[in-house]
Amino acid sequence: MNADHDITGRFEFHCTRELILRLRPDTDLVESLTKLARDEGIEAATFTAIGALKEGRLGYYDQIGQYYWKIRIDSRYELASCVGNISLKDGEPFVHAHAVVSNEKGETRAGHLLEGIVFAVEVHLRQLEGPRLERKYDEPTALMLWTTE
Ligand code: ZN
Repeated sequence: MNADHDITGRFEFHCTRELILRLRPDTDLVESLTKLARDEGIEAATFTAIGALKEGRLGYYDQIGQYYWKIRIDSRYELASCVGNISLKDGEPFVHAHAVVSNEKGETRAGHLLEGIVFAVEVHLRQLEGPRLERKYDEPTALMLWTTE
């Protein structure tokens, strides 16, 4: 194993605030957290969320074609698990979240959370303080990824 443990980005933070939030029905989870981060100057955070969604959209990143397939969540699903982070993109807070949703049979769909319309959602957000965590275009993946530069 390499001395750098094969890590291409390493940033050290400490948690300065933990928020427990209940999101308002009919709002978009991603948009709500983006707005909160903007309004409260949250530039770095991690979060988890659980609850239920009325509808939404998930993404699947095609690594060869380098684009997102969109997966429509057109009925009511449990938000079985949602994890994400907040960092900066173009100097603004940017929410990156992934979600696993489940139907009445317990069947799941999962992916990059593009939009999740809230039925009831509980969030645990940990605000972090440390270096500037900024997303920049990454040539090999064509994604906006964290960089130290
Ligand atoms: Zn993603």
